[in-house]
Amino acid sequence: MSDVDLPLPIRTELTAPYWDRLQQGVLSYQKCSACGHGWLPARTECPACLHDQWQWVAASGRAKVVSWVVFHIAYHKAFESRLPYNVAVIELQEGPRLISNVVGLADPNALRIDQPVRLRIEREGDFALPRFVTA
Ligand SMILES: [Zn+2]
Repeated sequence: MSDVDLPLPIRTELTAPYWDRLQQGVLSYQKCSACGHGWLPARTECPACLHDQWQWVAASGRAKVVSWVVFHIAYHKAFESRLPYNVAVIELQEGPRLISNVVGLADPNALRIDQPVRLRIEREGDFALPRFVTA
């Protein structure tokens, strides 16, 4: 492991429930009380209808790969020991998308568009982070 601290998410009043639920093993997204649209990352109003009433809802953990890149160069020292690794756009079965990693691959580029993946929550410092493995 690197002795350089990994950059970790910034916890805010808005995002605290997201991180707390991940600690409990649940990936959540925000769902609009007016139109039912679901989204990530956290924001104060629905990106579809701008309504400000919403709730955190648990995701099933089932998802698919939308796109990805493989990093061969570390732009932060803390990631050097992880090279090469992928950074992927993941679409949850419920619709919201997030940026994550598909882990556990012998080749980090061994992915395809629409590939089914499932949630794997991994610990980094004080955070539990949503990552994915092939389903
Ligand atoms: Zn809405």
